[in-house]
Amino acid sequence: MRFFYLILVLYTGPVESLQDIGWFWHASDFHYDFSYWSDQLSCNNEVTSPGIYGDYWCDSPWLLIKDSIESMKEIRPDVDFLLWTGDNVAHISDDYLSVNISMGILQNITDELQRNFPDVPTYATLGNHDYFPNNQFPAENSEIYDRVADMWTNWINDATEITRFRNGAYYSVKSKHGLRILGLNTNIYYTSDKVTANMTDPAGQFEWLDQQLTAAKNNNEKVLITAHIPPGMHTPDTILWYYPHFNDKFIEIINKHVDNDVITAMYYGHDHSDGFKIFYKKDGTTAFPIFVAPSVTPWRFKAGTQTGPPHNPGVRLISYDRATGQPINILMYYINLPDSNANNRTDWKLEYNFTQAYSVDDVTAPSLHKLRLRMEEDKSLIDMYYKFKDVSVSNPPSCNDDCKTSILCGFWNHKPDDLNTCTEKGKTTDDPTDYAVHLHANLAIVVCLLLFVQHLLL
Ligand SMILES: [Zn+2]
Ligand SMILES: [Zn+2]
Repeated sequence: MRFFYLILVLYTGPVESLQDIGWFWHASDFHYDFSYWSDQLSCNNEVTSPGIYGDYWCDSPWLLIKDSIESMKEIRPDVDFLLWTGDNVAHISDDYLSVNISMGILQNITDELQRNFPDVPTYATLGNHDYFPNNQFPAENSEIYDRVADMWTNWINDATEITRFRNGAYYSVKSKHGLRILGLNTNIYYTSDKVTANMTDPAGQFEWLDQQLTAAKNNNEKVLITAHIPPGMHTPDTILWYYPHFNDKFIEIINKHVDNDVITAMYYGHDHSDGFKIFYKKDGTTAFPIFVAPSVTPWRFKAGTQTGPPHNPGVRLISYDRATGQPINILMYYINLPDSNANNRTDWKLEYNFTQAYSVDDVTAPSLHKLRLRMEEDKSLIDMYYKFKDVSVSNPPSCNDDCKTSILCGFWNHKPDDLNTCTEKGKTTDDPTDYAVHLHANLAIVVCLLLFVQHLLL
């Protein structure tokens, strides 16, 4: 018996061992160019000898998409679910596209995911390129919404939610382990969507989101939000993807529920770059993280003399606590594109293990908050973040002081004016928790004054 107690005393890892850890994949922005070997319709520069796995100036050939999905299966087939955050059609003019072409591409990738992960639900959302005409998502039922609802019926697996998808391309499902997944259609808030520009709540999604977060609180559920286009500011380019009134409304709804600890994290694509943000509560303490996955397509932006950086294809594996829904770690996998082409084979390698690379306990909001403060002191951490942003390409562009300030401010300022104030002041150490300290100090002064007045009256 004494020996038994000795074993109990010597056992030092009870917290980790009791945690029920689950895994899921997140892949985004495949952007399949069906003309890669012929007309190269997506290629922003002339490419005379295209690599079999792709080219930095072009969207993905089919081999890259197939290879990335197969690599996910090889690395870890036993996952709880997949997140697939849209943009499957290439950057090609509408002149060369149609509803049938876009839906055909979506069907091909849906089939490839189902072939490799037959028993794993995929929580999929549409990207702005998945509609025809490009970006013009309507606020009501359409042929495309119907066709995608039919395609993803097995994954959504709920008649009410499939009907909801037909009317706005968003839905709510509960995962096997009890996590509430809200798959949103944020393309209707995008500044390129002319159909919804003057609406206040296209497809009623805001009202529904508000109701879903209330219901989750009442039912004691934790929520994961996934969609294509992220809210807030893309930095260091300082781009607001949403119309300002939609971004304000989105943040207003999140703020309404933020103190309830319902949302565990948000997962987006669209940026074609790796990044995170932090959402804070009203008192300045942390609420939840926002993760943006980089793209599978290596495509470089080009408009006139302006060019975007090249980046390598990447997919990510995320661990989470099944009981609480809290994210634990991110394992980012990638290929070096020129090496893969030169070797005629891919070698999907771990680009980084988030907790090891940044020396943090996990990827929850409090840990990312501490990391943010460390980045303000130690700018070499931002150099690493910036290297990962483009998925570790060789010779990446450098990030100067303004770029670093923009990234630091972008972690926690989700509106253009707030971001401008932060970057202009250069007050990147201006911590939202300071507000809480001020608030408490002011409250203390008010209480003292009241006591003093009461003392005089008595
Ligand atoms: Zn994209
Ligand atoms: Zn997009």
